[in-house]
Amino acid sequence: MLTPLAPPALEHLTPHDLVTYFRCPHEMELQRSHRPHVAGLATAPIRTPADVVPLHRSPLFAPPVGRLTVNEGRLDVGTSDRLVYEDPGEDDLPVVFPPEQIRLDARFQPPRTTLVDPAWGLAGRPDWVVERSGGALVPVEYKATHLFVGYHEAHGRLFDTVQAVAECRLVEAVFGRRPPYGIVLYGDQAGDGAHEGWVEVPYGDAEERWLKVALDQVRADGVRAPVPAERNCAPCEPNAAGLCRYAAARPRRD
Ligand code: SF4
Repeated sequence: MLTPLAPPALEHLTPHDLVTYFRCPHEMELQRSHRPHVAGLATAPIRTPADVVPLHRSPLFAPPVGRLTVNEGRLDVGTSDRLVYEDPGEDDLPVVFPPEQIRLDARFQPPRTTLVDPAWGLAGRPDWVVERSGGALVPVEYKATHLFVGYHEAHGRLFDTVQAVAECRLVEAVFGRRPPYGIVLYGDQAGDGAHEGWVEVPYGDAEERWLKVALDQVRADGVRAPVPAERNCAPCEPNAAGLCRYAAARPRRD
């Protein structure tokens, strides 16, 4: 009698991988292939073929954005809100919660701080997870930038929306409660907070469907083509490391 074959393991992806793929699939491939090398592990083979045809845009379609809400000013943290998770790898997060409102979940303390969703092959670390006064759990991603810089550009904050949707799924998988929305918090550090604010990214059936299809699409992509364009290539880390043959711009030196 034949033994049934086990299904192939899902390629492990992170919210950051999705964001990078949304900009340039080849950048994601280069990052994933060289990250293990940096950690002293074997380098994974790059699947992009030598005769690849560069693309004008990433094949990943945009997440739903029709229900986003944009809010100017300080994030409305109430006295009943609790901080239940914080990424210990981020040391530039602002202080928003007083000590009495910090109740970090003991399951996600070092060294096990990464949230893992085995069913969807997703793993990552939101900056925070907040339990709001009504009991809803909400992931928060902090960006040091001005609330409206880049907001209306063609790609702009769509990247942040991708990340927020993926983090909502992670929180649902790990904490067992579906977040109604994720938050992207913009601190405007350069402007001393003058233009800080936050965006609520709803997490409903449409966003969940988008994420599932996006993960399947990334995994099924055997090419991971480059998308050479100045806006992509100037800030690209693999480009700064001299890894990309298709770069359309010199790396930006910050
Ligand atoms: S340099 Fe440009 S084309 Fe190459 S991986 Fe980076 S973003 Fe993609």
